Amino acid sequence: MTRTKVYLNGQWHEGTGWLEVCNPATGEVMAQAATVDGGMVRQALQDAQRALPVWSALPARERGRCLFKVADHLEQNSEAIARLITQENGKPLTESRGEVAVAADHFRWFAEEGRRAYGRIVPPQAPGKRHLIFKRPVGVVAAISPWNFPLVLAARKVAPALAAGCPVLLKPASATPLCAVQLAAAIDAAGLPPGAFQLLVGRAEEIAGELLANPLCRKITFTGSTAIGKKLIVGAAANVTKLSLELGGHAPVLVFDDADLTTAVKGTVGAKFRNTGQSCIAANRIYVQRGIYPRFVEALIATVKSLKVGDGLSPGVDIGAMINEAGLNTALTHIADAVQRGARLATGGKRLGARGWFLEPTVLLDVPEQALCLTEETFAPVAPVCRFDTEAEAIARANATVYGLAAYVFTRDLNRALRLGEQLEAGTIGINDAVPSTSNCPFGGIKQSGWGRELGAEGLEAFLETKHISLGGVD
Ligand code: NAP
Repeated sequence: MTRTKVYLNGQWHEGTGWLEVCNPATGEVMAQAATVDGGMVRQALQDAQRALPVWSALPARERGRCLFKVADHLEQNSEAIARLITQENGKPLTESRGEVAVAADHFRWFAEEGRRAYGRIVPPQAPGKRHLIFKRPVGVVAAISPWNFPLVLAARKVAPALAAGCPVLLKPASATPLCAVQLAAAIDAAGLPPGAFQLLVGRAEEIAGELLANPLCRKITFTGSTAIGKKLIVGAAANVTKLSLELGGHAPVLVFDDADLTTAVKGTVGAKFRNTGQSCIAANRIYVQRGIYPRFVEALIATVKSLKVGDGLSPGVDIGAMINEAGLNTALTHIADAVQRGARLATGGKRLGARGWFLEPTVLLDVPEQALCLTEETFAPVAPVCRFDTEAEAIARANATVYGLAAYVFTRDLNRALRLGEQLEAGTIGINDAVPSTSNCPFGGIKQSGWGRELGAEGLEAFLETKHISLGGVD
């Protein structure tokens, strides 16, 4: 059985405990990951603080060279890392390969973007004065990442923070620490100074408690549930720790009568079933206009029935195992609730096999608005479909949620596309596009889906402080 070490201050160490890592396709323990305790977190913060002047003093181009090496390492070891992602997360291998490629692209993007942390010179309001605005790294950063895209979502934080000159401590999800260990290996191979990157596998509450209690931790960048995000907001008050929060989603899909049917069905299936439905921007509510509804649901059901479910390592699998039994049970509860409220189960709806955590890809039709799957994040391969009549009604129903991470629209009417882009309350809106997220554009939520943005120029800005030097004239 694989046993990992912890990566602290530029070296691999034994931990103080172990975390068992399960393969969701088999339910069996596949590895033991070494964990840190509170004392190690405190030491890691001090080592990171010592690394700050060293790492931030390097020219951005030098930091960028290191980040390019991380990207190279990830790509050179892509197959092994992808297999690990599939084994600890359950997703199909093709998707894991894509995840490694995107993570490498994030490192490359920020390797270059770090060179553009521009300030500016502001014309004075009084004679003899000069105003210089410049950017500095925020300081030591802690990154807390979830299990659903265990490599990519860590990369979205680690790469820009390092590019900005901040030392980073990464706390990965306990379900998926193994690819974070691989990321640490890639960063180790790139030759960063000791303490510039450290890995904190372990008990979330203990680690977060240490981070929030310690003023050396200047920023926490978090991706995960809105419930934990709210806890961090409360905890951050103690030291006014800066927060970036990428939280839960409840994305609507709006399919209009004028949509291209093939694009709409393919896009909806992608937005819903990618990552076994366990994506923050997964299509959670599918609203279809009355005219196209019969043709859309017929094609949707046929496509969903053709999806192959199985161990993500098996060839041709579209839908892997869900992360754990709790996730599977939530999905089954949402399905039962929808049916009990009058929805029609068009396909799927049941657990598959007794080994591992597999759910049949599911389509529910004419789902009542009060159903759990339309009011809460389902995080599963379950597609609830509803009818609507007018554009105004569709917008109102799409926006009737506390979440605002992503939304999808299928239409061929350019004016409608732009109107919806303006009126839908979401940080990312895919119009005839089920894969809207990319390294070079900002990503993040409004309302209770979060604070701040990752990726794009904004992703670097999140790790920079703005300073102003006001220079008076000297007689
Ligand atoms: P989660 O339970 O909130 O966990 C996320 C991370 O927070 C994990 O590393 C977890 O560690 C840690 N954590 C748990 N308790 C904590 C505490 N008290 N203080 C600080 N950190 C704590 O979320 P999840 O179930 O892993 O991920 C699914 C959720 O993430 C969904 O709501 C999804 O929409 C959201 N998400 C959002 C985005 C986005 O970009 N907006 C992207 C992906 C996922 P342990 O694993 O050790 O408990």
